Formats: sequence, structure tokens, C-alpha cells
Amino acid sequence: MFLIFILFTYQKIYIVLKSIGHYMKKAFKFRLYPTIDQSNQLSQHIGSCRFVYNWALDQKVKTYEQIGKSISRFDLNKLIPNLKKQNPWLEEVNSQSLQGMTKQVESAFTRFFREKNVFPKFKSKKNPIQSFPIPQHYNVDFENNTVKVPKIGEIKAVLHKTFEGELKSALISKSSTGKYYISILVEDGKEVPVKQMFSESTTIGIDVGITDFAVISTGEKVENPNYLKNSLKRLKVLQKRVRRKQNGSKNREKAKQKLAVLHEKITTQRNDFQHKLSFKLVSENQAIAVETLDFKGMIKTPHFSKARFDSVWSSFVTKLEYKSEWLGKTILMMGKFEPSSKICHVCGYHNSKLALKDREWKCPDCKTKHDRDVNAAINIKKFSLIDQNLIGI
Ligand SMILES: [Zn+2]
Repeated sequence: MFLIFILFTYQKIYIVLKSIGHYMKKAFKFRLYPTIDQSNQLSQHIGSCRFVYNWALDQKVKTYEQIGKSISRFDLNKLIPNLKKQNPWLEEVNSQSLQGMTKQVESAFTRFFREKNVFPKFKSKKNPIQSFPIPQHYNVDFENNTVKVPKIGEIKAVLHKTFEGELKSALISKSSTGKYYISILVEDGKEVPVKQMFSESTTIGIDVGITDFAVISTGEKVENPNYLKNSLKRLKVLQKRVRRKQNGSKNREKAKQKLAVLHEKITTQRNDFQHKLSFKLVSENQAIAVETLDFKGMIKTPHFSKARFDSVWSSFVTKLEYKSEWLGKTILMMGKFEPSSKICHVCGYHNSKLALKDREWKCPDCKTKHDRDVNAAINIKKFSLIDQNLIGI
């Protein structure tokens, strides 16, 4: 489970798209082919950054305990030279990458205070995905298929796509199967398009389905594609195999490697499917209403894991969000309200008895027959538009 969670959070790492300012930013991800020396240096960067991240987190917590105040990332950065004196091996690593970690710690705290969820955790060597940031001073050479990285130099890459624009931050990551990637954020100088008007008839609501991937307020149900379903079936087989092998044995390691390869395949397949679906939905509609994550007791059913759903769904919502930005469409994020599946979208009757297993129900008041998920999707659309004053109550 832990592995799955990490892998799915990994998707977020490379589907980074930020909309700061008025220019479009796009993320590109390329595979890197470092030499043995270079991969050692990359590993060293990853390890040193993890060390600085954990140190910064520890400093934050300690300062708060001692003086009741938080230490800023600027003050933490001032302490890095001293940290380097105590740990001279840090000198071999790009200083800006190290400073990038104090920024990451600060962001983790901001997220924690804003979303009131998980307290920032120490980074572990055991995480299947390892990474470090390159805030600036790197170069991409399309002619020679190389990326020049500070302190390491030119690394071979497969630059399958070209782009023009200003290079913003980059992130180098290493997957659980030992592959290196670089994700590059590029600002292309094009203005973000003006948002198009939307109305009741040009808006859809989407709900996360229990048996389907997504359910749309139009009544359409979108299943996971068969190739992904097959991989997910295979995943269960491989997970069982790992559990059966003796802890610490060579066979267990082999089984784990196979599992990691499959996880990567699933991530790619899932991303591909989500990209196509989100592009279609964003192109065909002016506004899309989605509910912020609340999994209606799914966590209690053995078949579903909250972590898995959270990350799969949120990576899909992220894709909807940035594609909307590109195309001037709107995403209406609706806060958690009364459970959307339990309210009759026709008359507003609240069916408090609706259980997770009930796929269909009939409203005792207005006698409308509901498909559980379609009703929820319609409510998501309806309540989002009420928030926009586009529908009367
Ligand atoms: Zn009703």
C-alpha cells in the first residue's frame, strides 16, 4: 500500500504546472542517461538534499519548541554554510539545490497549515522515488540531446519534444527501477487565455465513481480502460507474490523489482488515460465542477484505499485544472458539503439511510429513480453553480 501511495504521489511531481503571473507554464519530462560517474553524482545530490531537508525540518520543529516561533527559510539558508562546515561532503553538491530544500520544507508547512492534514514528514532513503530540485542555471541542448546540470555537467537525455521559452525550475528524479528523469518547467511567454463564460448548459459535474473511474452529470460513466484494468489485476498477483516470499530473501527482492516495474507501467498507463479524458472533458465543456476529496466511507471497504483514491483522483483533477487554464475554461471546486450522493437532485430529499452498497435508490418524496453516482455528479454541478449564483435555489 505504501508503495502505491508513493508512486501515485510521484505523478504529481512531474505533472507540475504552476500559474504564477500571467504567462503560461508547461512542464516537460525527459529521460536522462547518466554515465556511472554521473549517476553517482546524482545519487549524491539526492542524498545531500534529503539530508538538508531533514535537517531543515528538524530545525523548524526545534525552534518552534524552544521559542514558540517558526524559523523562516531565509534564516535556514543562512545556517547552511555552517552545516556545510560540519558536513564537508555537502560542498560537492549544487548550493541552490540544497537551498531548494528549505523552500520545500516551508511549502510542506504551508500545506499542513492550510489543509490541516499530515504534519511534514522526514524524507526516507526507502522512498521508491527520490528527487532533487535545480532552481536555475541548467541548460537544454536539443541538437546534442543533452541537459547541462550544475556541478555535474552534460548528461545524455532523450529530448523527444522541443519547446521554446524561459527555463524555470527543474527536478531530477530517480524511479524505483533506477531510471533518471528531469522535469522542466517552461514559461512560454504566451498570455494565459481569458476565461470563457459558462452557464448551466455548458457546465458538467464529475464524481469519482466506485466501480467506474468517473461519473458525469450527463449520465455518462467512464470506466478505466481495459489495459489499465489488466495491469491492476496483475498488480494484485505480484503484491501477493512479494508477501509470500521470505523477508530479506533474494527472491523477495526480485519480486519487489518486478512489482516496481509494473507500478511504473501503471503510472504511465494511468497518466495516458487521464490526459486523454481530461483533454476531452475540458475541450467539450466551458466549466467542470468537481468535489474536493471526501471519500464517503470508501476507506472502510476492503477494496478501496483512501490513499490510492486520493492520489489518483487528485492527479486527475490537477490535469483538469491546468488544461482548463490553457484553454480558458473554468474548474469549479466544491468544498465538502452534505454527501452529494444522498441528496435527491430533483427535490432535495436527504436520504440518510443510503448505504455504500446501494447503487440505485428511489426518492420517497418525488419518486425519482436515481443512479447513485449520476445523482451525485448532478448535485456537484448544481451546488457549484449555486455557489456561482448561476442557479436559483
Ligand atoms: Zn426527490
